[in-house]
Amino acid sequence: MGRRTRKKEQGEKKRVARERVETLFTLAERVFPYSPELANRYVEIALAVQQKAKIRLPRKWKRRYCKRCHSFLVPGKNARVRLRSRPYPHVVIKCLNCGHIMRYPYLREKKEKRRAD
Ligand SMILES: [Zn+2]
Repeated sequence: MGRRTRKKEQGEKKRVARERVETLFTLAERVFPYSPELANRYVEIALAVQQKAKIRLPRKWKRRYCKRCHSFLVPGKNARVRLRSRPYPHVVIKCLNCGHIMRYPYLREKKEKRRAD
């Protein structure tokens, strides 16, 4: 097997992993209203797939789970989201399951988005 073929296969594996992560998070969102625990299971599986394939989580889902307890987060349900402008513009997300607080710079996200588009 040539190097090129192997590289292609790895790319294929990552593509499949990305699809699975997308599907799992979508499922998590869908089942959350009636089964938050099942949603959390989907997150765990998605994170396992993501780590194994060494892929990045899509921006869309990156902030939808708690970094500490891995709960699927829904703003207004089990997460509190606040925008803060000081000391720099950032988003504060608090997981209401374990109390973990995550902060994400707001400007950088805008820039990243622009670059991706
Ligand atoms: Zn948590």
